[in-house]
Amino acid sequence: MSTLFDRQYTCPVCKNPFTSKQVKTSAIRAKERKKDFHTIFSSDNPTFYGVICCPACGYAKFEGDFKQEISAKTAQTVKDAITRNWKPQDFTGERDLMAAITVHLIALVNYKVLGEKQAIIGKLLLRLAWFYEELDSVEDNKKYVQLALDAFIRSYESEKQEDEEEKELEIIYLIGELNRQLGNFKEAIRWFEMVVRHEFAFKNRLIKNYAKEQWALSAEQYNLMKTGS
Ligand SMILES: [Zn+2]
Repeated sequence: MSTLFDRQYTCPVCKNPFTSKQVKTSAIRAKERKKDFHTIFSSDNPTFYGVICCPACGYAKFEGDFKQEISAKTAQTVKDAITRNWKPQDFTGERDLMAAITVHLIALVNYKVLGEKQAIIGKLLLRLAWFYEELDSVEDNKKYVQLALDAFIRSYESEKQEDEEEKELEIIYLIGELNRQLGNFKEAIRWFEMVVRHEFAFKNRLIKNYAKEQWALSAEQYNLMKTGS
């Protein structure tokens, strides 16, 4: 029996109604959760379906954002920058890893064209990093980890987080973890320390505990690197 079902959408840009597959919540099975929030699934992967893409015009965003009303000006920007170059492509059916990568890249172009927040662009780039990791593509994984890191740093430096301190804490933590993944251990430690000492760290014990663990791991890796060279 399929664990996928069709959900109905109406494109806010071109008004096209269409259905797109999603994974049934009851069928989702997580196998492993990594420290950058990357979850490995033994079932169909719901992350593959996180972005909705209108097959008619190329408007693509995270599902929650896709369903939002947009202004006429925003719709026009999408039409001018996306639809005009859009060759009909359909991501509404079952998605494999490659389809997930492609549809997330299309969403990335949409978010950039619309000048959306670095925090959300970082989230998209991080998912691409996960997908390339699942593809065992070391170079592309590294490239997207770096791009996600850059976006989160820009977000931290210049954007007020809507869900305030909770969102900020998550971003500071990810800046630490992505630095660690890239081998910048001293830099990673600096950010993990910021998480642990953050005045609202008590509100998110999961992230605080992750930060402590990854801080210790970074210190270990840093020492290994020093003695190894
Ligand atoms: Zn559309």
